Amino acid sequence: MTDNNKPPYGSPCNGCGACCLAEQCYLSLVTFGQSHPCPAIIRDGGRFACGLVERPDETVPDLVRVLGSDVTRRVAALLVGAGLGCDSRMEGEPDNPEWRRTVLGELDWEMGQRLINLWVAALWAEAPET
Ligand code: SF4
Ligand code: SF4
Repeated sequence: MTDNNKPPYGSPCNGCGACCLAEQCYLSLVTFGQSHPCPAIIRDGGRFACGLVERPDETVPDLVRVLGSDVTRRVAALLVGAGLGCDSRMEGEPDNPEWRRTVLGELDWEMGQRLINLWVAALWAEAPET
């Protein structure tokens, strides 16, 4: 299924896909509703990647019409934590308190909430009238 084994929690992400194949992230739920697997997962060579970040024009074209491709990509990258490292801690997997403190502890959660609000407003701007 995946070409890479999941690295330890807090290590650089290797695109193994274990997190996104197991369950949707919050941004996926907000964007697509419940769906398994997440509709945004894409295969990029031997790794998995997030289509909201890598291919927003194909993955969320309606949203891109509102926010533009670059803003959609950047907001998605911030909201899914792209580049932070592996934030998926599987059952029984050891903690990594230093990474959690230094990387997750420095995240701007208020900014995250504002970006979620922006994302949701853009989704509603494109929602069909009922
Ligand atoms: S965050 Fe972790 S589990 Fe998810 S794709 Fe990256 S390495 Fe795999
Ligand atoms: S990070 Fe992207 S591919 Fe993974 S669950 Fe979230 S929206 Fe889907």
